[in-house]
Amino acid sequence: MSDYKLYLGSHIGMGGPAYYEGTVKEALSYGENTFMFYTGAPQNTRRTATSVLHIEEGRKILQENGVDESKLIVHAPYIINLGNTLKPDTYDLAVNFLIQELRRVQDFHVSVLVLHPGSHLGEGFEKGAKAVVEGLDYVLERDGTNVKIALETMAGKGGEIGRTFEEVAYILNNVKHKERLGVCLDTCHINDGGYDVADVDGTLKEFDRVIGLDKLLCVHVNDSKNERDSHKDRHDNLGYGTIGFETILKWVKHPLLNGIPKVLETPWVGEKAPYKKEIEMLRSGVYEEDWRENL
Ligand code: FE
Ligand code: FE
Ligand code: ZN
Repeated sequence: MSDYKLYLGSHIGMGGPAYYEGTVKEALSYGENTFMFYTGAPQNTRRTATSVLHIEEGRKILQENGVDESKLIVHAPYIINLGNTLKPDTYDLAVNFLIQELRRVQDFHVSVLVLHPGSHLGEGFEKGAKAVVEGLDYVLERDGTNVKIALETMAGKGGEIGRTFEEVAYILNNVKHKERLGVCLDTCHINDGGYDVADVDGTLKEFDRVIGLDKLLCVHVNDSKNERDSHKDRHDNLGYGTIGFETILKWVKHPLLNGIPKVLETPWVGEKAPYKKEIEMLRSGVYEEDWRENL
């Protein structure tokens, strides 16, 4: 499989004063050829103007290092909830923020924004999902970019929409601008959501049947602290969770996932980022027992 294109990276923070330039340098220091970042704090919608985020400095370094910008990913803040039918003010805020965020993603010359579909807040899937579809239609009519939104598969915690491939497909099938939507599959989330992640072929076949593999824009490769079908969503380091290194490796190197960016969102080990080590092991295919202790 020498023509296999492996794009492997992690979530990287972005803080001042270097901002994007620092993000890019950090990703490269871990041996990454893709990465994912938030354009501001993940938990709020306060945003610094993109003009001061050192985007061109970062892009220059990407170019010098031969990184393909089309493989980079931005994650939307997780407080955006398009499934909210209880608080109209919050919903309006979310929709308008998302329009602004898509423009910010375009400012970075990134082409994919990962978005949690939302939570129905106890009002039931149908009500929540309809609001998500309406919200996406509103946004995609107005943002004026061609950035794609990748809906993430979720663990099904609380009222989370998108636990099953069917739930994700419902949104994809009902939005008007279908060409602007894709999917981000998270191995921890689908495990916690009830899928048998160890059966990679079977799970991908099911994904293809229900959603279509052509819709898959990104894979989040995380081990899970919880058992299959726990509906929990807590990521673990590779080899330390219930999924295990060998299964994660199968996802990373699966022939059907050739060329699709794969991004780690595994927890830091104390003060240390685990990504250099995790990426090294995934590239070599060799697992080092107790690697966290020797980090
Ligand atoms: Fe996510
Ligand atoms: Fe994820
Ligand atoms: Zn998660």
